[in-house]
Amino acid sequence: LPALTTCGRQLSGYVPHRFYHCGPERGKRLVLSRMFQPQNLREDQVLSPEGRSGDLSCKSQRLMLQVGLIHPASPGCYHLLPYTVRAIEKLERVIDQEMQAIGGQKVNMPSLSPAELWRATKRWDLMGKELLRLRDRHGKEYCLGPTHEEAITALVASQQTLSYKQLPFLLYQVTRKFRDEPRPRFGLLRGREFYMKDMYTFDSSPEAALETYSLVCGAYSSLFHRLGLQCIRVQADVGSIGGTTSHEFQLPAEVGEDRFAVCPGCGFSANMETLHSSQTSCPACRGPLTESRGIEVGHTFYLGTKYSSIFSAQFTNAHGKPCLAEMGCYGLGVTRILAAGIEVLSTEDSVRWPSLLAPYHVCLIPPKKGSREEAATELTGGLYDLITEAVPQLRGEVLLDDRTHLTIGNRLKDANKFGYPFVIIAGKRALEDPAHFEVRCQNTGEVVFLTREGVTEFL
Ligand code: ATP
Ligand code: MG
Ligand code: MG
Ligand code: MG
Repeated sequence: LPALTTCGRQLSGYVPHRFYHCGPERGKRLVLSRMFQPQNLREDQVLSPEGRSGDLSCKSQRLMLQVGLIHPASPGCYHLLPYTVRAIEKLERVIDQEMQAIGGQKVNMPSLSPAELWRATKRWDLMGKELLRLRDRHGKEYCLGPTHEEAITALVASQQTLSYKQLPFLLYQVTRKFRDEPRPRFGLLRGREFYMKDMYTFDSSPEAALETYSLVCGAYSSLFHRLGLQCIRVQADVGSIGGTTSHEFQLPAEVGEDRFAVCPGCGFSANMETLHSSQTSCPACRGPLTESRGIEVGHTFYLGTKYSSIFSAQFTNAHGKPCLAEMGCYGLGVTRILAAGIEVLSTEDSVRWPSLLAPYHVCLIPPKKGSREEAATELTGGLYDLITEAVPQLRGEVLLDDRTHLTIGNRLKDANKFGYPFVIIAGKRALEDPAHFEVRCQNTGEVVFLTREGVTEFL
């Protein structure tokens, strides 16, 4: 049988390109010319649900469309293109680390959610038009999950023999959510289909549940700190999810659709929705409040027994008696966090990423086609291999800008727009003896000239 490459094509005699682009395996080089990046969509082609053009847009949406990170599919729905998928996968890995560090176990529940679960909590009616409803061939009603309190509580309730010794359970997933938003806009910031990390916790007492609550809030703070996003935790409204205690993680930004108040005196902070409309002084210390706009990137709720009582999610306590589980639920807007990070970190015309999420870490620019071309190509290829072998974390993270029909300057402009954390240029000095490469650090603006070995050390 003929051998297959990772692209599913026959290997024999098939040489797709001078450089391969099938994956990050050893010896293969990732080249920019083969990246799938449909770009340059005009802003006025971003449609609102009614199909109107020219709807409001924001910096992250404009940039993400311009550089080919997302592509509109239908109002509020976007194709996530390869760079974005890489960034989202990286974000999911960081989220996994934080959730699993506090004992989170990952599950994956169906998007198709039967209506009877939602009728049981009355949210079939309460959620109104936001719930995307459909019927199967037998006429049975479903919705596409906007959140999963019903599904997870019914799942845990199906465990008949749960003991207090097994609790707490911290169950989470990272899946697509569907909400027929009245005003989907700002690209991935408010979509009708988006990724959310949702965690649901089950404890044996209110005290234990509140302990879990602060553990999860701590994990959220750690996550945002690692992403370099300065989020503020504010008191929040419980909305249709219900419960008694709730906080939002707000990322301050002009484009944010929420308003929140902070008291510089005592540190009190709250979403404006929770304050009386005339209230300008701090309810805790009466000092003046400062108001800002923010993007809600996370939300935490202590639910008590609101859902466990409806579905009988029970455990047996130390005295052998059945008790209702004390629940919490915790959301993170995965696609929203990526767009919000780009929104606050980027300049008007260049994308900047939270560095942990940059789709590729290094962009390597060989010289323009012309004299000494072969020597230059070999030199850059050699550097590529050296970096990916000497720095294992950079395997699959180095992109070679092989569009050598363009000048170094033009490709550098592009690299700047795409926001690779490091750009390495093999200019004239790269061909001298000893060769020196120009290394640019996008976030600090630092530019240094280094030898091959110097580059790997620097990275
Ligand atoms: P918003 O107030 O912005 O409508 P929400 O309060 O309705 O959000 P939650 O039910 O708290 O959202 O969901 C948890 C998280 O999911 C939110 O904190 C947010 O980060 C994210 N999220 C909610 N709706 C969207 C959406 N339409 N597009 C992208 N992310 C969203
Ligand atoms: Mg909402
Ligand atoms: Mg909200
Ligand atoms: Mg919310």
